[in-house]
Formats: sequence, structure tokens, C-alpha cells
Amino acid sequence: IKIKIVDIPVPITIGPAFEGETIRKKDAHVEFGGGRSTSFELVRMCEADEVEDGKIQVIGPEIDEMPEGSVFPLGVMVDVYGRKMQEDFEGVLERRIHYFVNYGEGLWHVAQRNMMWVRIGKNAKELGFKIKDIGEILIAKFKSDYPAIIDRVQVTLVTDKDVIEEKIKLAIAKYSARDARLKGLTDEAVETWYTCTLCQSFAPNHVCIVTPEHVGLCGAVSWLDAKASNEITPTGPNQPVTKGDCIDPVKGQWQNLNEFFYSGSNRTIEKVNFYTMMEDPMTSCGCFEAIMAILPLCNGVMLTTREHTGDTPCGMTFSALAGTCGGGVQTPGFMGMGRRYLCSAKFIPADGGLARVVWMPKELKEFLGQDLIDAAVAAGLGADFVDKIADETVGTDEEAILPFLEEKQHPAITMDPMM
Ligand code: SF4
Ligand code: ZN
Repeated sequence: IKIKIVDIPVPITIGPAFEGETIRKKDAHVEFGGGRSTSFELVRMCEADEVEDGKIQVIGPEIDEMPEGSVFPLGVMVDVYGRKMQEDFEGVLERRIHYFVNYGEGLWHVAQRNMMWVRIGKNAKELGFKIKDIGEILIAKFKSDYPAIIDRVQVTLVTDKDVIEEKIKLAIAKYSARDARLKGLTDEAVETWYTCTLCQSFAPNHVCIVTPEHVGLCGAVSWLDAKASNEITPTGPNQPVTKGDCIDPVKGQWQNLNEFFYSGSNRTIEKVNFYTMMEDPMTSCGCFEAIMAILPLCNGVMLTTREHTGDTPCGMTFSALAGTCGGGVQTPGFMGMGRRYLCSAKFIPADGGLARVVWMPKELKEFLGQDLIDAAVAAGLGADFVDKIADETVGTDEEAILPFLEEKQHPAITMDPMM
């Protein structure tokens, strides 16, 4: 990886060395998003006359008006103009916000889109860091890293609680349009899948394989994004792979993918089954949106999300699960995932697919909404399948949810044993 040194006019140090830095709640001056307030980030392709290069605007309070320990909304809007820019590149550039913000000492960023969660540390505040400086970092990094496609950048940072509710509508419409472009593409329909090794700065042996039906587990890198990213930076973190000889069509194991995993994981992972979580599953880094875990008593799997802080029937909260299964190792019976992977026809097909899902937080059911119902119908489970899935209102241990599953005649109860 080439590291370019650019001069960024901010009072904190910027560099990849700070990427893995965590900022605990007690060390944060202010935090944004993460389920505590409205947040989003959006990169938009604009016309030349819509972008004033270098312009940074803060709509709402600056950091001096934010008391220590407070929570504010944050919208990060990056408008880009470039003669070679394409709409397909937006999602790729948007994912870079995560890395660029984390380069700042005293800045912490997780998740993406309208799940984004940011903390500014007390140390950064004391050095005089301002909300506006997020714009300085983004403009400098985007221009230095993508000179071939970006000619002008402007950044708008929204911290006003009324304005953000208006602006987030733009972002949500963009996210759905991007997701819609992927619909109809299947794993089989394309020759080439893509790897993603962006997270190796956090999890050195972690490799994601991104396919039309399997979004990267951060939820932010789709197959189209990976393809666009490879067009922008052919030697970058997203490399095309052809599957090669099929070793196991059911569990989803291919020769070339195994070879890629072996070299890509610094020779720690020899084989990966793409369609099961039970045997040699994909690795998990640390930034997955959701994680699934086997529930042996219920003969099914549960999912929980970063946003759901409560207990779950596997006996662990999201952060405990993330601590156990993250870091780029294979953990049979557990797997990190992007939220939308649940609605994919390739959701752990070798384990029984969506029919295996017996528990998830209410929040996730609501988030996926009609898409989850459509996925259940497509899988032949019926539109009422979602009502058969237990959530925290039914119970948070296996003994409590089993009678519910039996009463609802959840299909997992009568399926083949998972292990
Ligand atoms: Fe790439 Fe996977 Fe990290 Fe997402 S989680 S940035 S797809 S390596
Ligand atoms: Zn990651």
C-alpha cells in the first residue's frame, strides 16, 4: 500500500497509524449516530457548476456549542465533480469516508450509510479540532487519493436536528437506487467475483469475497462497488477472481477462491465454504453490521446487530459476539454479515437458508421490512414467515423462544439437525 503524505490544515495528526484506535464513550467529547441520533454519509456525483472546490459548510452547531458527553446528529455530504467520475463510483468513494475519518488521531468512525457512528475524542477537542475539520480531511484525502476521477470536492456537515431529517431523505433515496441496481444479478450470472481486503488494516488475515448475492459484511461494499473500485484502482483492495474448479457445489467451495484465500490471508486460511456457516465459513473482520450464531436447542440461527445492545438467545450481546468472532478468523457456527445478506437467495443455502432464522431483534425486522417478507415469499416460506421469527419481546434465551417457535410451527423445528 502506497501512503501519500498530504498536508491537511487540521490541529490533529492524520495517518493510517491511528486507524485502529478506539475511542471509548468516556473519552469522547461528543458522539454522533450509532442509533443514538440521526446520522448519514453520502457521496454524490454532481455537475461542475454545483461544486465549489474546497468549500466546507457546517449547518448547525460547531463543536464549541456541544457540551462534553453530548450526542448530536451528523450528516456528512461529499459532493464530487470529475470528468471521469461515474455514478457507480459513489458507493466506493463513500466507503472511503470510514477510513479517512479514522486516520485522524482522536476520531473514531464505524459502520456506514445511515448507520454511521462517529466519536470525537476529548483530546482532539482540546487541540482545537472542529466539525469543519472533518471536511478538511475528506477534501484533502479524496483529492490526493483519487486525482484521476475527482476534480472538485465540497463537503457539507449537518449537525442541526431539523435540517438533517430533511437531508437524510436524499441519502436514503440514493442508497435504495444503488441497491436496486443489484437486484436481478445472481452469483451464477457473473464470471467474476471480487475480493475485498480493505479491512486488513484492522484484521490482517481477513478477506471478504463479494458477489452479486453476498454484500461485504460491512454492508458497504456490493459487487458493483467492488467492480467499480477495481476500475478506479486496478491494483487496489478489490481484485477480480474467477471461481475455478468447483470442489463442493452445495457448501460453495471453489479451487481458485481457496487459493486466493490462502495467499490473501497470509497463509492462515486454506479453504472457505461460501454457502455455509457451519464448516470453514468466511472470516469476520470487526465491522460487520450483523452477526449470526447457531442456536442448537432451536435447531436454527439467530442474528443480532450492532444497533441492538441487548441480550440475545445465544447468551452473548453483539459486542461480546464481535469480540469472540472478529479479527479475521473462521468461527464455525458464527459469521459476521451485512444486514441485507439476510434477504439474499444465497443466505447460507447449505444450512437451509432463511428458514433457519429463528430470532432477530425487532429493529432488524423493521429495518428490512418488505424486503424480508419478499425474501421469505421467494424462498417459499410464505409472507407470514417473518411473524414466526422470535425477537426480544418473545424472549432472550433459547428456553423462552422454543415454545413460541413450536406454537408458530416455525420450519426450523422440523428441519434436519444443524450439527
Ligand atoms: Fe471490504 Fe469486507 Fe471490510 Fe467491507 S468488511 S470493507 S467488504 S473487507
Ligand atoms: Zn471490516
